[in-house]
Amino acid sequence: MQPLDDKGFMTLKDLKNLFHKDLDAIHGKAEVQSFVNLVLEYHLDLKPIDIVLSGETTISKSKELLFISIIDRLKKEEPIQYILGETEFYGLKLTVNPSTLIPRPETEELVGWIIADHKHLDKISILDIGTGSGCIAITLAKHLPNARVYALDVSKDALDVAAKNARLNQVDIEFIEASILESTSSKLDVSSMKFDVIVSNPPYVRKLESSAIKNNVLNHEPHLALFVENDDPLVFYKAISNFAVHNLKPKGSIYFEINQYLGVETKQLLSQFEFKNIELRKDIFGKYRMLKAIKS
Ligand code: GLN
Repeated sequence: MQPLDDKGFMTLKDLKNLFHKDLDAIHGKAEVQSFVNLVLEYHLDLKPIDIVLSGETTISKSKELLFISIIDRLKKEEPIQYILGETEFYGLKLTVNPSTLIPRPETEELVGWIIADHKHLDKISILDIGTGSGCIAITLAKHLPNARVYALDVSKDALDVAAKNARLNQVDIEFIEASILESTSSKLDVSSMKFDVIVSNPPYVRKLESSAIKNNVLNHEPHLALFVENDDPLVFYKAISNFAVHNLKPKGSIYFEINQYLGVETKQLLSQFEFKNIELRKDIFGKYRMLKAIKS
């Protein structure tokens, strides 16, 4: 029996109405509907249809307080993924917290490109630079089970999240704490290795673009993973290409997620290194977002 002091009066229908009343003006009705579905699935294991059919069911007082605190956080435009502590990427469940970016659908497309190119190959080695939540490395390890996957990040906190996600998804990945901008660092112990694939979704948003970024991203996601200085927006692409020249096997390939406004510049940069067949691809939103190049 529920303790008396946990007896609430709010029904599921009341709760749904409260979400819409407090949040529609900020997030729009459709998005708020998806918050309701995600929150009730996560905390009460309810499917959207259950919410409709059981609208008169009463919520316990403690859950009511919890949901009100979630509404308060959503009012501050905190991403729902950080509030629940999880997200989905390429069909896999991943934990996230503010030390990692929330994986984006564009990045799923980049991963899909690598999987399609390598699914028939045996025993390849892959390095993911700036792994964050581990979304790229973990999905590749899952879909290319013969691949040996290494993943590097400068942030110890991000690597903790990535390692947890690898365990959660039962894949074996070697994580390395290092900065690609300091490749002489002794910590970069991948520097003597040769890879078939190097992939990266590095920071690429210029500070001058920050006014176009939504509050949920700007005020809550890690700037370390998003921003580069305006004067050298390709700094990571240069460092990674330079590393790849030495650390890709012949005919190995490099895959980048890129700044949509810097497709031409990024392609040109790659052509200055020993790369051929440099291909730009658009994402689902029609923006130049991915690049692949092959080492000569
Ligand atoms: N695509 C992300 C965004 O626009 C940025 C990711 C990145 O900088 N690597 O928020």
